[in-house]
Amino acid sequence: MATPQLLLALYPDLLWHQGTFRSGMGLLASDLGILTVDSIAVVEEEVARRRQRGEYVSTRRLVHKALLPGFINTHSHAFQRAIRGRTEYPATGGSQQENFWSWRGLMYDAATRLDPMDVEAVAQAVFVEMVKAGITRVGEFHYLHHRPDGTLYEDPDELTNRILRAAASAGIKVTLLRSFYQRQGVGRPQPEGPQRIFCDPSVEFYLETLERLRKRGIQVGVTPHSVRAVTRENLAILVDYARKNNLPFHIHASEQPREIEECLQEHGRRPVELLADLDALRDKTTLVHAVHVNEGEIRAIGKAGVSIASCPTTERNLGDGIVPAAALLQAGAFFTFGTDSQCQICLPEDARQLEYHLRLKNLQRCLMFQDQVSAGRTFLQMLTVNGARSLGQEQEGRLEVGCSSNFFSLNLEHLSLAGASADSLPLDIVFSFENSAVSDVWVEAQEVVSDGYHRAEKQALRNLARVFKKLRGG
Ligand SMILES: [Zn+2]
Repeated sequence: MATPQLLLALYPDLLWHQGTFRSGMGLLASDLGILTVDSIAVVEEEVARRRQRGEYVSTRRLVHKALLPGFINTHSHAFQRAIRGRTEYPATGGSQQENFWSWRGLMYDAATRLDPMDVEAVAQAVFVEMVKAGITRVGEFHYLHHRPDGTLYEDPDELTNRILRAAASAGIKVTLLRSFYQRQGVGRPQPEGPQRIFCDPSVEFYLETLERLRKRGIQVGVTPHSVRAVTRENLAILVDYARKNNLPFHIHASEQPREIEECLQEHGRRPVELLADLDALRDKTTLVHAVHVNEGEIRAIGKAGVSIASCPTTERNLGDGIVPAAALLQAGAFFTFGTDSQCQICLPEDARQLEYHLRLKNLQRCLMFQDQVSAGRTFLQMLTVNGARSLGQEQEGRLEVGCSSNFFSLNLEHLSLAGASADSLPLDIVFSFENSAVSDVWVEAQEVVSDGYHRAEKQALRNLARVFKKLRGG
């Protein structure tokens, strides 16, 4: 059995344990996982025993702090950080309607201009930003694979390796949702222009890539980009591979009305119906967005215990629409959150928008939950354990013995949270949390953020500035 390299005992004012914030508790953790979660007296005894055995244990009282498991971000395209703030005006001077598809053109343009070093720099900056926002694992839906002309890099995993390096330097755990992209869309079998960067030569090439990454011990998910980018035949192959290998299965689904129309045209089925026909709806499946779903699809998603990677900060930015969150939740879907286009990194902001968008639509308040306890608990589960489940990392998202030592402390004297009680804190976090309330972040018991400062922050800022200078043509 491996011996732990790091031992850390923490005594916060409040600790999130089994669905509530409790006082008088402590936690002993190592780099290999959480060893004890109990009353302060019990944890102190355990610390004393270990010290007697000659082990070094670092201990900290976290005064005016709450300790939480790290948030889990289930949907990210790291490179899209490069277009933040640069797509918020009509690029055509107002001569045509701006929507998801016109935004996509600008995003494609950025994809062709980033070389491998740039991809790593942009990813590092956005991953550092995530960790500072309390996120300790990201599902990176990675679809930049090849050179702009579609030829392979000398090492076909070049860009994957860049993403992994960026994650390591930012201290974030990553599930690589290495995406398969095949075609432009219905009746357009060839990739168009910049899509050559995304497209693999064949589905066999894709599966070999996954095998190679898995042999390296990299956590992967089977990730067809969308029903528009992959044929039915290849979707079936990927569903089958994910099931046989017990891997997470992620796919963009029902983000845009046009995608529904095209799917009906090609298959006579809506996207979620098509996935149901392929037996893709199951507990290891995550649908990204699921905004435009009808009642039958909602029932099928709920019945199968499917996860939704909901990205309301991006969905509102792109004008995608409003996810029917209350209906999906009631049907049994597992909500998780993603920062997707990186226009904003704040997972509780995504959580609150689930409810807020429904309020604006229905002209009513408090539409998702009946009471304070279930609202607070369920929202925090969406930010933590549900994300862990979606990414196939069930040992994360909880402060319990045997779970991973990924957690963060929240400053209870931060102006956005001051005055919160143990009972109110879950909903204070969901509705009023600001990233600057995150004080310290530990990943595998290593302190990555201290007092709001990330150890790789300066370097990340320098590297990002270099990329933006290049994009500006400087
Ligand atoms: Zn996406």
